[in-house]
Amino acid sequence: MIGVAILGSTGSIGESTLDVVARHPDRYRLVAIGANRNVKKLAEQIARYRPAYAALADEAAAGELRQLLSHSTNGAASPHTRLLAGAEALTEIAALSEVDAVMAAIVGGAGLRSTLAAARAGKRLLLANKESLVMAGPLLMEAVRAGGATLLPIDSEHNAIFQCMPHNMRVGTAPPGVRRVLLTASGGPFRDWTREAIATATPEQAVAHPNWVMGRKISVDSATLMNKGLELIEACFLFGLPPTQVEIVVHPQSIVHSMVEYLDGSVLAQLGSPDMRTPIAHALAWPERISSGVDFLDLVRAGRLDFRAPDYGKFRCLGLAQAAARAGGLQPATLNAANEVAVQAFLDRQLNFIGIAAVIEAVITKSTGGKIGGLDDVLAADSEARQLAREQLRASYGTRMATSGVVRDAHA
Ligand code: NDP
Repeated sequence: MIGVAILGSTGSIGESTLDVVARHPDRYRLVAIGANRNVKKLAEQIARYRPAYAALADEAAAGELRQLLSHSTNGAASPHTRLLAGAEALTEIAALSEVDAVMAAIVGGAGLRSTLAAARAGKRLLLANKESLVMAGPLLMEAVRAGGATLLPIDSEHNAIFQCMPHNMRVGTAPPGVRRVLLTASGGPFRDWTREAIATATPEQAVAHPNWVMGRKISVDSATLMNKGLELIEACFLFGLPPTQVEIVVHPQSIVHSMVEYLDGSVLAQLGSPDMRTPIAHALAWPERISSGVDFLDLVRAGRLDFRAPDYGKFRCLGLAQAAARAGGLQPATLNAANEVAVQAFLDRQLNFIGIAAVIEAVITKSTGGKIGGLDDVLAADSEARQLAREQLRASYGTRMATSGVVRDAHA
């Protein structure tokens, strides 16, 4: 039996992981779940799956959960589940000895510490929390090496690339014979919109992704194409490639999840229905295969597969991320933090859609930058960027930013 911990269990990836794990009770045992402050959903998950541990990062919410479970008459109060509270509780469950595999599915920089903890503890690390690799790529890769962890990408594109790489590849090292990787992008909900229409896009329109059902932050990132920019940085760390060897290709159908081009001219692709349970099942069972509950792909029904170049003029976040990938050091951490603040401001209707790129650009210009010496440098760059982004929002848009939700610092 493989012991599984799911960090971010109340989110979109967390719920998909619970679904796959529950399909294989003979193989996986759910040891721990954790989230931020969704008391109701975590209580339901405790009642349904009865994990040994459950954690909420938000102390007040954890207190509410404790109350709720102690008064519950519907079986939600599981005597088998130990409740933990506070951000360090997520780090604790990531390193539990009963846990073999950790799904890192917290959104944003808030996931950095627990992801690092799982890597240091030598777990099978199923990495959905791309922001931790973007912020602290060299540190996370080093923690994986030092801890003897097995890092498996959950992002559908990186999971596809991993599947198309030679079977003996080591994460972080480019396998010989690879010319480049082709990272596919759906193009998001505004792919075919005019610049004028995009300027007035609402949060509701931005989160309505045409192919994937995802959390709100990543949905906005998909709409701005920042998601593809973050994925470019993620691909460089995972596959040991420079940004010039990662090409972004818009593929509206989201059926080809990404490709690897070899020196002999071969291009290997991984295809499938757009459902995150495929990469989750792949990473849980690798190198074996298990069922995932995903609809099998009907290529005849799909009919056609289209590809085109991204429009950098319309989606400026992509160019900003590419520049950060080239600059390296602390710039990706700065980009990521500024993006989190700007996206939250957009979702809170304090910033318009095209303002997201403008805020990020201003923050990068003003930030101190520098090299990554250690975790403190990353956390300082993260804090500085969030502060600069809030100042930029106040100066340009007259808004007062809250420090809640995904806007919370990675220190928290
Ligand atoms: P959701 O918004 O659906 O879920 C986010 C999860 O993170 C929730 O469980 C939330 O808890 C938890 N969380 C948020 N802030 C904190 C915090 N401060 N401390 C602890 N937990 C916290 O996000 P997604 O599932 O869509 O995405 C999760 C990650 O996976 C992201 O990094 C995203 O980029 C990546 N990813 C997602 C894909 C998808 O299809 N959704 C595809 C590929 C990658 P609570 O509910 O209590 O707030």
